[in-house]
Amino acid sequence: MKRVLSGTRPTGVLHIGNYLGAIENWLKLQNEYECYFFVADWHALTTAYENSKENLKNWTIQAIIDFLACGLDPKKSTLFIQSKVPQHTELHLLFSMITPLSWLYRCPTFKDQINQLKEKNIATHGFLGYPCLQAADILIYKAEYVPVGEDQLPHLELTREIARRFNFLYGDTFPEPQALLNRVKNLPGIDGRKMSKSYGNTIMLSEDLNSVYQKVMSMVTDPARIRKNDPGHPEVCTVFAYHDVFSSDILSEIEADCKKGTIGCVECKKKLYKNLEKLLAPIQEKRKKIQNDKEYIFGIIEEGSKKASEVALQTLNEAKDKVGLI
Ligand code: SF4
Repeated sequence: MKRVLSGTRPTGVLHIGNYLGAIENWLKLQNEYECYFFVADWHALTTAYENSKENLKNWTIQAIIDFLACGLDPKKSTLFIQSKVPQHTELHLLFSMITPLSWLYRCPTFKDQINQLKEKNIATHGFLGYPCLQAADILIYKAEYVPVGEDQLPHLELTREIARRFNFLYGDTFPEPQALLNRVKNLPGIDGRKMSKSYGNTIMLSEDLNSVYQKVMSMVTDPARIRKNDPGHPEVCTVFAYHDVFSSDILSEIEADCKKGTIGCVECKKKLYKNLEKLLAPIQEKRKKIQNDKEYIFGIIEEGSKKASEVALQTLNEAKDKVGLI
């Protein structure tokens, strides 16, 4: 069975954007591939090292609980925490030795994030070198496939380049992983801006449903609609962007009614809430059952991390041997 590797950074509690961008797809993949899904806590430190003491452990565990609550099955997929598989960091160091600085500087995320997160000092060695860690995450399992959005393709290409460079220098070791393109619809934050934990415009998977309702009812709509029967423009409305993702059953009806002015925004939002509730209620139900069962949760983490380590150690030993390390 072909191997798939994917992870999420615990820089906050997981939200519906994480579900759509990753977990929803992983639920399908776990039935078709040998899957390794992990919480990338080392990667969280690349941009959020300053407040890690307060939050990182909790967010990491909460992400594993969300994985399980969403339906990832530890019998089908290996679920683990990156820092519990130390071979990732060792291979990262090895890749750091062979990766030219110019490759890291040209990585689009490096400049973008430094500009976007000006308030944080992320111009660090760790952040510049994170593509080497990402390459180690993937190549240590010799994963054939990596599920990515289109914006992630340059990163995967860098992993492929690092694999090629290692293979050229020391002999064939790593396969070049292929992208499994996610067809993710673009979901803005509830205020219409880019969805981001730092803007506080997300809906968490574990968020109380009353709070979800309040957030939906406060969402930005078409500003040209003042009266209920004013014809609307769904293409500029954030609520409609959410319907586009969560309401395939009533999408064309909403679009037509909005354009004709035969549905009010309050009613339209209530319909959206119903569909969000359909997604979130079962996840939260399952979460309630498992979130206090520490033995079960830590058992899954230990078992998954041990299984991942066994595979990772084999690859690491092979790579070290080829390089000439004892
Ligand atoms: S009716 Fe719905 S889609 Fe149309 S503007 Fe109002 S909230 Fe947006």
